[in-house]
Amino acid sequence: MQLQEITDKIRRFRDERDWAQFHNPKDMAMALSIEAGELMEHFLWKSPEEVAARVVEKRKEIEEEVADVAIYLVELADILGIDLFEAMERKMEKNAAKYPAEQVRGSSLKYNEYGETQTRD
Ligand SMILES: [Mg+2]
Repeated sequence: MQLQEITDKIRRFRDERDWAQFHNPKDMAMALSIEAGELMEHFLWKSPEEVAARVVEKRKEIEEEVADVAIYLVELADILGIDLFEAMERKMEKNAAKYPAEQVRGSSLKYNEYGETQTRD
């Protein structure tokens, strides 16, 4: 399924319920964050081993939370007139420039930290 098809499906679902009146950018961003919270709840306070077990045991539920996040994200982008794939591509290019692989490979430092580490050496 292409992005446009799923966007249309989400729009249709919303409009059939007359929910566009509630789906403004603020509430969509909040709903997106709440769904991300529901996803995080699966892993909260769990050790790496418990997380690994949870991913297996609750795969379907986790998949549904991932889908909820994606659905709200796609709809928010649609409401804002953002071409999601183009925006992602542009941001990935920006990220690649910000985090040159040869400089950051194997490091979890933020872009404004690895430069400092380098100058300190
Ligand atoms: Mg949910």
